[in-house]
Amino acid sequence: MEQLVAFSRKYGSDPELVVAGGGNTSMKENGVLYVKGSGVALADVTAKDFVALDLDKLMAVTEKAYPEEDAAREAAFLKDILAARLPGEEAKRPSVETLLHALFPYRYVLHLHPDLVNGLTCAAGGEEAAAELFPEAAWVGESKPGYTLAMSLKTKIDTGADTVLLQNHGVFYAADTPEKLADMLQSMLDRLHRAVEERYDPSKDVPPSLEHPFTPDQIVYCGVGPDLPDTENAAIVWKSTENIAHYAASFGGQRPLSGWLASFIMNWEAERYRGMNL
Ligand SMILES: [Zn+2]
Repeated sequence: MEQLVAFSRKYGSDPELVVAGGGNTSMKENGVLYVKGSGVALADVTAKDFVALDLDKLMAVTEKAYPEEDAAREAAFLKDILAARLPGEEAKRPSVETLLHALFPYRYVLHLHPDLVNGLTCAAGGEEAAAELFPEAAWVGESKPGYTLAMSLKTKIDTGADTVLLQNHGVFYAADTPEKLADMLQSMLDRLHRAVEERYDPSKDVPPSLEHPFTPDQIVYCGVGPDLPDTENAAIVWKSTENIAHYAASFGGQRPLSGWLASFIMNWEAERYRGMNL
């Protein structure tokens, strides 16, 4: 647990990796998943901010049938995730991405939304460039958050992926030691830094649009046009959005979220009270 807290705070304090508290971490031990809870930034996390959940109960969610209709499905899914909390943990709220952490058969999981990585995941040629630059990584295309994203991710993990890029969202790394996680992250950032320099196309470097968000973070903190909310987090996340747009110029230019998915995220109940947990 000390190691989990230490690397969570280290990555959480790096503005190149974490914007407005986004990102989360977890550890598995003796059939229990310890995942960062909602409402606390990764940089400030302490041992008591991790929520303990029964891994068998979480994995049972992937075998269950859920309603087709979005609101009914997400409500039933969230209920099952909350029911997996160990006794005494009922006051804590686990990350909305808890099941994604549970699925990886590794001790530690690190999930981040770095601008540099999202320059790739929010680019028109991102998937193609990712296959070339990161043959070890799987790519999950556009997916509704919650249950649907978890099941999309599961198909990649079932093929053995320990690094997964999520389109218009971020990246997951899974490993049995914090040192291995650090290597995986650094190796990806090094290759991306080189690639954005080598592949930069100034004709593709155009400002982002408030009307066409790149990521769930942007929707939550900046809203969807025409005006940027007057909050500190909106300003921070908008700066990050500008970085993403700039990096995307090296991978064929921007690819914002599809309209249907942006609408889904805007109406998704879990996002409304998300705070700083994604
Ligand atoms: Zn996320």
